[in-house]
Parts: sequence; structure tokens; C-alpha cells
Amino acid sequence: MLSQLIDTHAHLDFPDLIGRIDKVLDNAQNTRVTKIINVGNNLVGSRKSVDLGKKYSQIYPSIGLHPHVLVEDNLFNEDKLIDNQIFEIKQLLGEEKVVAIGEIGLDYFRLPETPFDFAQGKVGEIDIKRAQKELFIRQLQLAAYDNMPVIIHSRDSADDTLKIMNEFSNLKAVFHCFSYSLEIAKEIINKGWLISFTANITYPNNKDGQEIIRYFDLSPIMIETDAPFLAPQGKRGTINEPANLLEVAKKIAEIKQIKLEEVADWTTKNAVNFFDLKN
Ligand SMILES: [Zn+2]
Ligand SMILES: [Zn+2]
Repeated sequence: MLSQLIDTHAHLDFPDLIGRIDKVLDNAQNTRVTKIINVGNNLVGSRKSVDLGKKYSQIYPSIGLHPHVLVEDNLFNEDKLIDNQIFEIKQLLGEEKVVAIGEIGLDYFRLPETPFDFAQGKVGEIDIKRAQKELFIRQLQLAAYDNMPVIIHSRDSADDTLKIMNEFSNLKAVFHCFSYSLEIAKEIINKGWLISFTANITYPNNKDGQEIIRYFDLSPIMIETDAPFLAPQGKRGTINEPANLLEVAKKIAEIKQIKLEEVADWTTKNAVNFFDLKN
């Protein structure tokens, strides 16, 4: 029987999962997912994440402000509100069991229309990118100050993400839901950072992911579900949950032609070390 798996990135605080969390955690236990990093992506979510950590022994909270909060939570150009939120995140770092800052980063995939109307007037793509970078850097500074690992969300923004991360090369970092090329994976892994894969590797068109998994040994690799998003092939369109992490591990075993147990052992060890979990 499989020893254990650790889901290094899930959003159990989201409405689709929180409403039936006991069942979700039971299902996870049944596929040997014994620990779950619950990732906050805005202030409210980060608080919920901390609460989940207090309530459930197998849940470990990460806290942070995702680049999309700028638009979704109306923080763009609201320096005082951003200052307050950063302050709150800093306070939350003192809560028990918090294992990382994240998810934080840059996301240029889904930028608002350019230029678009905010209450403040016309705002362009460049302004949003600049604001994302600033929010990202401020949270990296928190991580550096407190010596915390960071969970990086980076989409369509590899160059800018790496430029910023190179200024924080001592930080422990994982690039979650990895969706870049082998070349970029090499650059990240050479720096001593990790990458983590979701069930997007089970999608037939994800050739890059499969190539990367074949290329590296498992020492820089972690696995995650990013639940409720990104359900595995065969379950696409359904609400994803940590129990499906087994599909990610199985796919890696299949690609590398190794035993599932080996994937479980490596990825668990990496997660325990990265987040400094008690095993
Ligand atoms: Zn993300
Ligand atoms: Zn996420």
C-alpha cells in the first residue's frame, strides 16, 4: 500500500470544497493524501486558511495575496488599502502552523481589457503589470525577513518573474502549477528552486510538462491538485479535490516508468523538507 502523498497546493477554503470539507478530507485520506497545504490567495482566504489549519491536523496554511487581488478586490492604485493588507498578512505570519507565503507572483494571462475604466480613470496593461510586480516584491520581502518559503504563481510572465526572483535567490521557492518550457524549468531548478505539477500533466496536449518530467530526476519536483481547479483528464469539468492527487503521482510514474511508490516517496520528502513539516 502507498505510504503517503502530500498535496502541496489546494484551496479548501473555496465554496465548492469548504461546504463538504469533512467528506473531502475523508476522500483524501482514502487515497493516502495525508497532508494538504491550503493556499490563501487573498486576505479573506488567508484568514480562512489559518482557521482550517487550526481545525484540522492534516491541513497546513499558506498565506498571501495573488496578483489578481489588485483587480478582484479593487486594490489597484489604493496604496493605503494595499499597505493594510500587507500588514495583515504580516500579522497572520505569526499564527500557528503557517508554512509559507503564497500564492504570490505575476499573472499576465488574464489582464483586464487595455485600457479599461477604473473609478480612477483609464488604466493600461503596463500599470497593472507594475502594480503586480510591486505587490509580489513586497511579499517576497516579508518572506526574506521571516525566512519563509514562497509559493509562486507565474503565468505568461516567466521573464519578469525570474528577474524579480533573481533578486531573492536565497529564498526557498516553488513555482506552482508549472506551465513553462523545459528551458525555463532548467533555469529555475539550477537556482535550487522547485517546481510542482498539477493534473495538467494528465492532459494529452501538455507535451512540455511531460518532457520536463522525463528530463529531471524527482529531487526538485512536488505535486499538487490546485483543487477545486484542474481536475484530471477523465474528470475534467468536475470539481477537483485533493483525493485526485493520486492521478498526478500515477501519471509521473507512468511518464518516468518508475514505481508509484517511488514518486510518492520523493515528492513527500520534498514537501516535508520544503515546508518543514513534521512527518
Ligand atoms: Zn496559482
Ligand atoms: Zn492556486
